[in-house]
Formats: sequence, structure tokens, C-alpha cells
Amino acid sequence: MGRSKTIVPRNSTDRVLFSLMVVGIPFGVAWLGCIVLPHYHDTINSTVVFHIVSALFILYNIFHNMLLVIRIDASGRTSYLPSVLKPGWRYCAICQVNYPPRSYHCHICDECILKRDHHCKFTGCCIGYHNHRYFLIGILYVFIGALYGVYYQWDYVFTTINLPMFYFFLTLLAPHFTLLFGAINLWGVLVATLHTLGLITLSMVSYLLFMQVKAICLGQTQYEMKLDIHDYNLSLYQNFVDVMGRKWKIAWVSPFISSPLKGDGISFLKANEYEPPKDI
Ligand SMILES: [Zn+2]
Ligand SMILES: [Zn+2]
Repeated sequence: MGRSKTIVPRNSTDRVLFSLMVVGIPFGVAWLGCIVLPHYHDTINSTVVFHIVSALFILYNIFHNMLLVIRIDASGRTSYLPSVLKPGWRYCAICQVNYPPRSYHCHICDECILKRDHHCKFTGCCIGYHNHRYFLIGILYVFIGALYGVYYQWDYVFTTINLPMFYFFLTLLAPHFTLLFGAINLWGVLVATLHTLGLITLSMVSYLLFMQVKAICLGQTQYEMKLDIHDYNLSLYQNFVDVMGRKWKIAWVSPFISSPLKGDGISFLKANEYEPPKDI
């Protein structure tokens, strides 16, 4: 773990997606808490308290993990990198440093990343050896939050858009059609639009989480999965510990829980002999 960085992404596309995440997720929680929750409950009872505490716990985990993804330096600048090129290592002409296997240069971050997984456009930084745990847990909580929200407001959406099944789904896909025919009002358009956005978020994050879990199970980064590299597939347990750290069983509860990584992000145990790709 090295020096920390600024929070706002340097790339303009990343800044747009980062802003959408920072505004969109708290807005979704506020919508559920202020509009949907009063639809089910007239008074504050234990169920209401449970939903509020759950929502705040999920929200906290999303943003604290994402903050750590951004602040933790995933590059190898603070690690000891030798001046002599070792077998399997490569020289990055941009960084002018020798880098170990599994490290690649990111042209957006403008630096080499240790065990580079991918560049995350929502946080505006690369996911690598030192911040992978926080990214994985962050998207796990986005998934839980999206699933929770979509499921929780389903009855509210059905009640607000009180139409036969075909027209109900038509409204979710194109609310302006049913607005034109006078079947719903502007509030119905808002409810349908937000619900569709929730379903899109849930679909996207489900796919992202699935791809992450699949790669980690196989001991791969996203880059290695694309190139079908299986050199670091040790065992399911070892592969998860490599990402989540020694306390992987409880590390997902909170980013405050310390879970030291076993390695240094430079040397990796191989399942068999490794020939690094040359076209980086
Ligand atoms: Zn580089
Ligand atoms: Zn990057």
C-alpha cells in the first residue's frame, strides 16, 4: 500500500461516470427512504428501523470501499523495483522502470499497476493488487443495494403504475408512450424511469460481479482471463486469499477490518511455467 491520491478522476468520461455514481446511489437511497418506505409504513416501527439501518450500512460500505479503491496507490512506485531486468519482467518505456509479471501500464492513469485487473471508469482509477479487495466488496454492496431496492419498491411501482401486465412493462420500457395515451401521469413516468434505471444498474453490476468472481476463482485478472492465461490458478482458497487477504471470511463486513495480503504484488507463485505476453 503506497501513497494516496486525489479523489476526482483525471479523465473526462471517468469524471461523468464518477459523478453519476456519487449522485445516483445516495439519490436512490433517499428515494427509497422518503418516497417508497412511507408507502408501506405509516409509523416508525422495528421494520422501518431495520430498513434504514440496512440501507445506511450498504451505503457506507459502497462509499468507504470505493474511497479506498481510489486512495490506495495501486502502482509499484513505492515498491522495490530492480534496475536489472529479471526473467519474465518487462521494461515500461513510459514509467522508465522494470515491472514484474502481471503488471501493466494504464494509459489513463499514466502509470504501471501491480497485478493490473482493469481500469474502473466509475472510480477513475485502476484496480490492481493493493486495492482489488475494496473494489470487489464495493461492487458486492452495489449489487446487494440494487437488488434490495428493486425488490423493495416492486409493490410501490405496481401500485403507482396500475395497468395490465403488457402496458405495465411497456411503461417501464417507454413511459412516454403510456403518458401520451393518458394511462399514467408525470409521477408515473418518474417512478417507471427510476425503476428501469434500478433494473439496468442491477443487470450491469450482476454481470460485473459475476466476471470478477469467475476470474478470482480461476486465479486470473480480467486481462489474463481475456488472454486465457491460467498460470496463477493455485486453488480456490488461495486465489480468494490472494485478493481478500488473510481475514477473507470477515473482511467483507467492513473496510475497517484489517486483512493483510500475503504477498507483495511483485512475486507470485505459479501453477506452472509462465511465458509473459509480448504484445503489451
Ligand atoms: Zn508504465
Ligand atoms: Zn487506470
